[in-house]
Amino acid sequence: MDRKRVLVTGGAGFLGSHLCDRLIEKGNDVICLDNLFTGRKENIRHLMGNPYFEFIRHDITEPIYVEVDQIYNLACPASPIHYQYDPIKTGKTSVMGALHTLGLAKRTHARILQASTSEVYGDPEIHPQPESYRGCVNTIGPRSCYDEGKRMAETLFFDYHRQHGVDIKVIRIFNTYGPRMNKYDGRVVSNFIVQALKGEDITIYGDGSQTRSFCYVDDLIEGMMRMMNSRDGFTGPVNLGNPGEYTMLELAKTIIRLTDSKSNIVYKSLPQDDPMQRKPIIDLAKKELDWMPSVYLEEGLIKTIDYFKNLLV
Ligand code: NAD
Ligand code: UDP
Repeated sequence: MDRKRVLVTGGAGFLGSHLCDRLIEKGNDVICLDNLFTGRKENIRHLMGNPYFEFIRHDITEPIYVEVDQIYNLACPASPIHYQYDPIKTGKTSVMGALHTLGLAKRTHARILQASTSEVYGDPEIHPQPESYRGCVNTIGPRSCYDEGKRMAETLFFDYHRQHGVDIKVIRIFNTYGPRMNKYDGRVVSNFIVQALKGEDITIYGDGSQTRSFCYVDDLIEGMMRMMNSRDGFTGPVNLGNPGEYTMLELAKTIIRLTDSKSNIVYKSLPQDDPMQRKPIIDLAKKELDWMPSVYLEEGLIKTIDYFKNLLV
């Protein structure tokens, strides 16, 4: 068996823990590194006894010395509430995290994948978004710590590739949801589901006409692993997301219906720089990775609702 030593930074988070599951299932030797800022041991507890799984509590703003064949760099808070809690730390995590993992990749000759984001497109002026679009990002707003941090990380990845020949892969992830989202992280899917299950008001920011495209976690992890194992020389960046596009009002109504909830919808002010629309063009992922999402929104929401039902009991 081709057992690889794989480092997953941010491995105790929502996406990272699902990635660790899949890597272990496929017979790899996994090191999960996390400072547990937004990640939780509960997400990886079921892996703890496995001899091919190790957890290291470590902050990626500090260097790390391990011997690995592949690195998935996911460490970074992803929800606006969490990345704006300590914006300077968010910038450090993205930039120094990229430097440290790239340095590690250079020394060990490991292949390295960066979890970048659709936020590099900012509040996009063209719709839907192809990888060639350079984005419309406010450099000084409340979201900038995340957006610009991720943009700088992409720059570092491509500079390490050109300057040192590091074997890089860059994915731009669009809004992804599913079990193990942190119920307090304020992202829209977890917020609406928890509010609906508790019978609390569903909080729509703005008039609810802004759109997002939601990808179920299993689809995303499949695309991420296909990218890691894609042909030599294909660096990306490649969009990974589900092109189905919904307004936040449509999402709220769907979740109310699926949970059979009596919750009311209330409207709150729209946060500054909140993107008005977002939808990926995924032609490149289809061509290079033979990948496209297969889980419809309602199907994925039902699984996520079941997860939160158990959690809230
Ligand atoms: P998450 O908050 O659940 O996971 C991030 C993980 O990184 C957490 O476990 C957290 O504790 C850890 N972390 C944060 N700062 C760290 C540091 N300094 N050192 C070590 N660990 C640190 O969020 P997620 O949704 O799983 O996102 C994972 C990655 O994917 C992030 O890089 C995020 O930017 C990217 N991404 C996610 C989405 C999405 O919709 N879920 C969309 C675009 C990009
Ligand atoms: N949103 C909302 N109510 C909430 C949480 C979020 O209407 O309780 C909106 C938010 O303003 C944004 C969209 O939902 O327009 C997606 O927000 P999220 O934080 O999940 O992701 P991002 O803005 O980073 O895409």
